[in-house]
Amino acid sequence: MEPPKKSTSRNAIVPSTKEEEIRNARGEWRPPYPIRYAPLFQWPWRIWEVLKWLWGHPGYAFPLNAMLLATSAASWFLTQPAIESCKTFEWGWMSWVFVRNELLIWLWYGAYYLWLYVWKKEGTKGKYDAKWPARNSRTFLFGDQVKDNIFWTAGVSALIWTGFEWITLWMYANQRLPYLSPAEHPVWFGLWILAIPLWREFHFYWIHRLIHWKPLYRRIHSLHHKNVNPNPWSGMAMHPVEAFLYLSVACIHWVVPSHPFHFLFNLQHAGLGPAGGHDGFEGPIIREKFHTGSYFHYLHHRYFECNYGESILPLDKWFGTFRDGLPEGEGANLREEHTFRVPGQEPKNPHGKPGTPENEPAPTSEKHEA
Ligand SMILES: [Zn+2]
Ligand SMILES: [Zn+2]
Repeated sequence: MEPPKKSTSRNAIVPSTKEEEIRNARGEWRPPYPIRYAPLFQWPWRIWEVLKWLWGHPGYAFPLNAMLLATSAASWFLTQPAIESCKTFEWGWMSWVFVRNELLIWLWYGAYYLWLYVWKKEGTKGKYDAKWPARNSRTFLFGDQVKDNIFWTAGVSALIWTGFEWITLWMYANQRLPYLSPAEHPVWFGLWILAIPLWREFHFYWIHRLIHWKPLYRRIHSLHHKNVNPNPWSGMAMHPVEAFLYLSVACIHWVVPSHPFHFLFNLQHAGLGPAGGHDGFEGPIIREKFHTGSYFHYLHHRYFECNYGESILPLDKWFGTFRDGLPEGEGANLREEHTFRVPGQEPKNPHGKPGTPENEPAPTSEKHEA
């Protein structure tokens, strides 16, 4: 028998073509191979596998992290305000940073959304959920999932993102933060850049576990989980408190010696990365060339109580919340859907029984665009 192929989501190793459209009664498509963790923390450690994963394509660096790094480099060299001008809070540089962030958001999230959801270039091939974003739904602001998601992502979260940048630039300008000089410490400078996506994953996991604590879930994180069927704009569709906690990932540079570029890359990685992580499709897309998407995180949106982290650090595996996506695979016996009530929505699993049969239609009264 042929060994199972590995997921082609962003941290995957072996590219594979998507199988034919076989969907269950809920209109869901599942990759016929399990999600696998990256080899970095797999025992026994295989140096060749790790190197291939670090620098191969698709892998850790390419394509996604390299693209995000290139975006940050372009932002730094072309749009970053002079640090001296940030010594005082002034409208000029502060509004410029906000406009820059908005442009980046519309470019990144907009590109995914245009390709997959407006032009529908991939059709529903590899789309985990056959439905398109909800319209005429009381669950979402303005009765429309995409408009709701844009409001939270490009409106509210973008402001919080920019707020972190305003405060941090002001602190750097006034020499209140530990500074790492690239000329004096080029190796540390490079290693810090390489480590930022890992730090992001670690921070995300713990913040995410925290906001799944029932009282916080109900008041805060349920807003993000309205998106059972996510699209790129769902990425930062978060309650302001969640956005604040999530983006606080970049505050590590307030204590660990860093260059302002590390801070910029960390924050842009957090701000732009979720577009691909929520695109709702199994990569690769664009003539099967561009590796994107995260089945790992999609399963979290679909089942709520699994896969809190991502697929490099095996934190979910260590804490028993990993689901590999196969119907009979690892984590398949985890509780199916949670019973917390999302405001304005019926509980997803009103009986709270584990293991809702897959061929049962999803309990929803929303109308979806055909
Ligand atoms: Zn999410
Ligand atoms: Zn969650």
